[in-house]
Amino acid sequence: MHRTPAMRDDDLERVWKPLLVAARKLPPTGSGFDSLMARALDAFAGTSIERFPTASELALPVALSLLGLDTSAPPAEVVATLQHHMAAAPAAHPLDVVTAYGCGWARRVAPTATGWDGRWDRAQAALHALVARFVGDAAKQLERAGIRFPYEPDTAFAADLLIIRLYRPLSTLPLDEAQALYITCTEDGAQVTCGEDHEELIPAGAKAVYDVRHDKAGPPRLRRGENTLTLAPDHASVLRVTAMDLETRITLTAGNREKTLKLAPSEILELAGPVTLDVLECTCGHWRCAERHRLSGWQPDAAEISLASFVASAVKGPGRTLRTGTFPQGMLFALWSREGF
Ligand SMILES: [Zn+2]
Ligand SMILES: [Zn+2]
Repeated sequence: MHRTPAMRDDDLERVWKPLLVAARKLPPTGSGFDSLMARALDAFAGTSIERFPTASELALPVALSLLGLDTSAPPAEVVATLQHHMAAAPAAHPLDVVTAYGCGWARRVAPTATGWDGRWDRAQAALHALVARFVGDAAKQLERAGIRFPYEPDTAFAADLLIIRLYRPLSTLPLDEAQALYITCTEDGAQVTCGEDHEELIPAGAKAVYDVRHDKAGPPRLRRGENTLTLAPDHASVLRVTAMDLETRITLTAGNREKTLKLAPSEILELAGPVTLDVLECTCGHWRCAERHRLSGWQPDAAEISLASFVASAVKGPGRTLRTGTFPQGMLFALWSREGF
């Protein structure tokens, strides 16, 4: 257990309202944080607080007032968990820790909840602003490198999609024994269908990536025409669908084994249930996607990396400056190749 000085729960309860009033006049940025730290004690004058908090006790309540909810003071367990994370990563800015946590980092989020157990609007807006900034940077750097966009890239729209990939990296597609996923190679790309409600076109140059899970029923089969390919008996494999001009490439990875299979136009590959597919929202297909392109991969305690640097590398690919070799390793390249600008 790590311990950092904390305000008493009932004291925090008492000062929460005046703290919020002061916080709403400030932006949830480093300078907003600094001015609120300087002003907070004034805001508490007249409250029946046991003992005025010290600056280090104040940092977390201040960050929470800038990025959290208006409805109620943060629950004691939220405060305790955040204190623990801040103690484990003393170099991290409290705003970074609170932004990430508010978006679902280091906890389980109740997806439809609107309280402290859900995702917090202000934290999401802060992450959105960060992502939008690096999408804008990337577009400018690409233009400087001579890339011509057919029209001005929509940075806000790209950020809308990318923050979801960062904080909710998977969506689950369970198939029962009567269902199957069909991948059809077409001249426009790869058509993926499953039942009536899941149908999408992967344009040439883009990918779709699935984690394939199965249990008692044994490994699922991939069928192309007469040929059947049984998946490795491992309990998880990764299925990558890469659409190319006049060809769809299917790559199946289990452990360190990899199988590749090609579909020509109008050929269909069938993956029969029962099987559970985790559809990876980030379709970069890179083997380090999980650690680089998911908010859960931000480890301020292990590596002293700010949330901004983490997001910058996630969006634009690793490295300080954008290079043609590293940009395709980022989330933005995968997004643009799949969805357009
Ligand atoms: Zn501990
Ligand atoms: Zn990725």
